[in-house]
Amino acid sequence: STPFLSLRDLRVHFSTEDGIVKAVDGLSFDLEKGKTLGIVGESGSGKSVTNMAILGLHDPRNTTMDGEILLDGKELISATESELEKLRGNKMSMIFQDALASLSPYHTIGAQIAETYRKHTGCSKKQARDRAIEMLRRVGIPQPDTRVDDYPHQFSGGMRQRAMIAMALVNDPELLIADEPTTALDVTVQAQIMDLLKDLQQEFGTAIIFITHDLGVIADIADDVLVMYGGRCVERGTKKQVLSQPDHPYTLGLLNSMPSLDGPVDVPLSPIPGSPPSLLNPPSGCRFHPRCAFAEKVPGGLCSTERPKLDVVEGRGAACHLTQEQKQDLFADFAATR
Ligand code: SF4
Ligand code: MG
Repeated sequence: STPFLSLRDLRVHFSTEDGIVKAVDGLSFDLEKGKTLGIVGESGSGKSVTNMAILGLHDPRNTTMDGEILLDGKELISATESELEKLRGNKMSMIFQDALASLSPYHTIGAQIAETYRKHTGCSKKQARDRAIEMLRRVGIPQPDTRVDDYPHQFSGGMRQRAMIAMALVNDPELLIADEPTTALDVTVQAQIMDLLKDLQQEFGTAIIFITHDLGVIADIADDVLVMYGGRCVERGTKKQVLSQPDHPYTLGLLNSMPSLDGPVDVPLSPIPGSPPSLLNPPSGCRFHPRCAFAEKVPGGLCSTERPKLDVVEGRGAACHLTQEQKQDLFADFAATR
């Protein structure tokens, strides 16, 4: 069967005063209905840009896109703005870290949800209001028939996030893109929102792309995981494969810099030294080589001269010049602590 969403060698380049920024440089993946793909990476890894590209929200004046984005068989890179406009908020929608940025302060929560519904269904105002109340109830807002008339500032942070989810799901989208939607919330509310998303996914069969820098969140929600570094995918696989048997030094570094998922939380963390690469002048060869503890293990200085290929077999792969034997050996310390 054809996957619901399919990216083929996506490239997103921005032209700036300083030159071309290769924000996404050859990315491919598939996503099935009802599944969650976690995309993890540091800021500047290209994860948000990828999703803005899917939604068609980039600025065409300074952006060039290549490759293919197929949503339910429809090619999106060549889609017109009005075609994309029809898809956004309807077949695909998005929730962000900052609910206040996607809710207008001047309109009631209910009016905003109702308007999103009316825009795509053309139903009556009364029907749209009823739908808004129903959605607020579904995302767990107490007394939705009165809170529907509240303004965003009258909601707590967690409730605003719920309202944004209600708005994103009001038209039963088949694809939901969630970009760090819980980062700004405290741990308890964060857990509630994650549970809500999982329940709604069960109910609606939505495909979700969940973007985060937090592997703990990935562990909670993802089916498959894609690890991005410097605009490229460096590793992918099922959640279990990536989190318990990392196959790339960068993923290993990310895992080592977070508390064990089921172990004690007070183990010392070892953040990866160095900072993310410039995408204006990215490092040659493997983009991770200036920060990689294992680069010297690869003979011939290959890491700094040759781009490692991402060979994917049955959804599993990593882009690294190390041999499997070397990785088994070098990653053994990690395995021992899990
Ligand atoms: Fe490290 Fe080289 Fe593998 Fe890149 S290709 S992750 S630099 S060992
Ligand atoms: Mg981002």
